[in-house]
Amino acid sequence: MRPFTGNFTQQEPLSDEAIDAAVDVMRSGRLHRYNVVDGEMGAVSALERAYADWQGARFCLACTSGGYAMGIALRAAGVEPGDAVLTNAFTLAPVPGAIAGVGANAVLVEIDENLVIDLDDLAAKIDRSGAKVLLLSHMRGHIADMDALVALLSKTKVQLIEDCAHTMGARWNGKRSGSFGLAGCFSTQTYKHMNSGEGGLVVSDDADFMARATMLSGSYMLYDRHGAGPHGDVYEAVRLATPNLSGRMDNLRASVLLPQLAGLDANIERWNARHDLIAERLMSVPGIAMPHRPDAEFYVGSSIQFRLPGIGADEAGRFLESAAVLGVELKWFGSDAPVGFTSNHHSWFYLGSTDLPRTDAILAGLFDMRIPLTFSKADCAHIADIIAHWVATLASRSAA
Ligand SMILES: *Cc1c(COP(=O)(O)O)cnc(C)c1O
Repeated sequence: MRPFTGNFTQQEPLSDEAIDAAVDVMRSGRLHRYNVVDGEMGAVSALERAYADWQGARFCLACTSGGYAMGIALRAAGVEPGDAVLTNAFTLAPVPGAIAGVGANAVLVEIDENLVIDLDDLAAKIDRSGAKVLLLSHMRGHIADMDALVALLSKTKVQLIEDCAHTMGARWNGKRSGSFGLAGCFSTQTYKHMNSGEGGLVVSDDADFMARATMLSGSYMLYDRHGAGPHGDVYEAVRLATPNLSGRMDNLRASVLLPQLAGLDANIERWNARHDLIAERLMSVPGIAMPHRPDAEFYVGSSIQFRLPGIGADEAGRFLESAAVLGVELKWFGSDAPVGFTSNHHSWFYLGSTDLPRTDAILAGLFDMRIPLTFSKADCAHIADIIAHWVATLASRSAA
């Protein structure tokens, strides 16, 4: 087999338009979001306005990272130290980190074979924990049955905050991910769907929540200078009661995000063309189980996941190595120890340990791969062939 030589962490360059916009901000010297001249709408405010419109949300707040967005969303939702906060166990470290950051206790919920939250386990843990908030991570872009989930949460009076780090642009039954509960949190970190190095966005339709989140983000008393915030009157009750946790976005980052937002729908099509090409190929390989994607789900295929049910740890290690020898960088969620960005609930010691047999059985056979837009469709076909080749080799080895 011919090795693949592409780089799995190489993003596309920023467009000339984004670069010119960044240079303009630098030449102005006004990098801080509140440093605007009379009548000027700074880049951060313009981004908030544009993102709220694109998302179909009343309000949007830009901040320093996706993790920070989740932290202030939890706090603005009223979560206090010692409270229980539910979250699905299959996610990445910033999610339990955001819960720990507000002093709350994460209650991990099982996932199912399609990599989404297990609603039966959720119902049981709502009962048992008394938690009033679910921080739902749409991990790797897999969206749970949002109709059933929202019905369960409204029946049990649990508030929903969505972690949309992997679902910016995705929909369930036509409705944008991030619009199903109190708030949606997004990341503009380099490996997500828009790239400003670091960055985060919070959206909500709730004025009081957004006023608290805005004060928390460190708006001093300059909340009037926001592009998509609540009316000034809403702040009267919260302005002196809310601490400043300083985590604003700056005009430089916002300036490179604005042109990317305009190109996001086109990029989603490019991601999905690449994802679907690989998925179709893998679906036909004996031994590979692909997560089912319901018709109601419109996903963004910026990464792909597949399972090799029943694979042992040693075998999984050999499979990863074999793929790597041919230039294919896979992640495995079953590993005991965290590797780079990839970790599982067993290595979040600060949470204490939770018995999650269903999730563990799934993670033990779960592989994951980024699909950067710098890969061509021919690259994707080549990668799929390499994966299919090694899965077939595994199967013939274990048959022998
Ligand atoms: C990246 C990521 C976030 C947010 O991360 P930041 O690096 O803080 O912007 C949140 N949840 C998941 C699942 C992520 O992968």
